[in-house]
Amino acid sequence: MSDGAVRASVPVDERLRSSIMRRLGRSLHVRHLDAGSCNGCDWEIAALLDPYHDVQRLGIDFVASPRHADLLLVTGIMTRNLADAARRTYEAMPEPRLVVALGACAISGGVFRGTYAGSDGVAETLPVDVLVPGCPPRPEAIIEGILVAVGRLDVRRAGRQAT
Ligand code: SF4
Repeated sequence: MSDGAVRASVPVDERLRSSIMRRLGRSLHVRHLDAGSCNGCDWEIAALLDPYHDVQRLGIDFVASPRHADLLLVTGIMTRNLADAARRTYEAMPEPRLVVALGACAISGGVFRGTYAGSDGVAETLPVDVLVPGCPPRPEAIIEGILVAVGRLDVRRAGRQAT
């Protein structure tokens, strides 16, 4: 059996828990930012904390302040009114900081693409590490997206050492 096959046979929950511990040695702190969503994506994020998904068992904690956050989870198109606040939120986060754009709106504007009231995706405002598609994405897809984002911590740290 190849390494890839072994890795694929390990449940995503286990891979995420061990990836967080290996790279941070503690919980991953997540700040959720609603940047103009319809709230569909936000309800899927809320489902991460229900008794079925219970992501706290994997070492994921949602925090109120960006100063405590490793990862910014952004939903919505990024409205004009929120863009400056989103930049300040990102700047307040400690390095190495990660950004995940969650849902079609955050990726490209989704059904609101081209609106006068906002941008066509979060990447116009923030450096996005991972895109999680869906309208809205299922909780399992969000967990997978966070797993990919945590893996990018190595890239971020390597980049910082090189500069
Ligand atoms: S991607 Fe869909 S569910 Fe998420 S904020 Fe946009 S319209 Fe709502």
